[in-house]
Amino acid sequence: MTPPQADAAAAPDALARPVASTSPLLRGPVLVTGGAGFIGSHLCARLVREGAAVMAIDDLSTGDRANLAPLGNGRFSLTAHNVVERFDHACSAIFHLACPASPRAYQRAPIDTVKTAVFGTLHALENAEAHGARMLLASTSEVYGDPQVHPQREDYTGAVDPTGPRACYDEGKRCGETLATEFARQRGLDVRIARIFNTYGPRMQPDDGRVVSNFIMQALTGQPLTVYGDGSQTRSLCYVSDLIEGLLRLMDSALDASPVNLGNPQEITVLDLAERILRLTRSRSRIAFKPLPRDDPRRRRPDIARARTHLNWQPQVPLDEGLERTVHWFMRQVDADTELKLVPVQHSRAAANAPTASE
Ligand code: UDP
Repeated sequence: MTPPQADAAAAPDALARPVASTSPLLRGPVLVTGGAGFIGSHLCARLVREGAAVMAIDDLSTGDRANLAPLGNGRFSLTAHNVVERFDHACSAIFHLACPASPRAYQRAPIDTVKTAVFGTLHALENAEAHGARMLLASTSEVYGDPQVHPQREDYTGAVDPTGPRACYDEGKRCGETLATEFARQRGLDVRIARIFNTYGPRMQPDDGRVVSNFIMQALTGQPLTVYGDGSQTRSLCYVSDLIEGLLRLMDSALDASPVNLGNPQEITVLDLAERILRLTRSRSRIAFKPLPRDDPRRRRPDIARARTHLNWQPQVPLDEGLERTVHWFMRQVDADTELKLVPVQHSRAAANAPTASE
């Protein structure tokens, strides 16, 4: 595997184009809720690169300040705040991303997840209304539940069990879409809704339980790769820089509040993904089959015709290339972690050998 040349996050993207100077993204400050998270931090970095003034808010429950360290504090600021509580920031655009998003994270605190998805979205919409800002809601492919229609188009209304273990996130996001739609319909708010499919890349949390981070960490540390069920369930994985480009285009577009799928239509089975990651990492880990969690969607693939037509957008980064970049990023985390763990050991050895004051 050849190391990537540039920043692992900044994959080449033939469709990337600069934000127009008339864009709401450059008229005033841009607010990014959930700005310290995996997707949020990539979005903040891209916006700052485009010349926007960016304010991130994040309660740092699943986000990490370190994700934003490279941005400095010239045109960028981070405020620690939980969107379940109201907020008020003058801005011309809001990307509302704040919400735990991995099944492990959202199932850890399901009532808080519902509150974040519903009250957080309400507060973001109220903030947008108060300042005449455009708001983009980060919704999710989870609104389709375990889909009976394949691939999923935006007019498919989904199959979600309202009392199932994923409902706190799925129904919370569905209600968020309802709120955003009604603010647009009844109060004329300028709203966009992105339905984000599985996204991966550098800065995923190593312990968030998602399939890409789990498999890479397991492969790099010699643990068995935990395939749930028989691994025949499918997902379609979008590299993070492609998603960010889609979010910017949607925010900048003349579309209305109707939802738009953003994801990569290349579909693979979970078992195939495990085998690819074993190959890419040259790992000798084995595969261990574990029970399939309840309500785990059997298949997922976005129909992205709407994004192609209206945003002239489609993913550019092939799966193996995106995985390679992600593996390199995780390798650096594992190395750094190993070095950190070694430091106290070396110190204590040195300390044990050092003469003490009484000697
Ligand atoms: N998965 C797996 N092993 C893992 C983690 C996840 O087989 O260690 C499977 C999971 O059952 C699901 C798919 O990978 O079918 C994607 O899971 P993830 O949690 O990444 O996201 P989801 O799309 O389910 O929200």
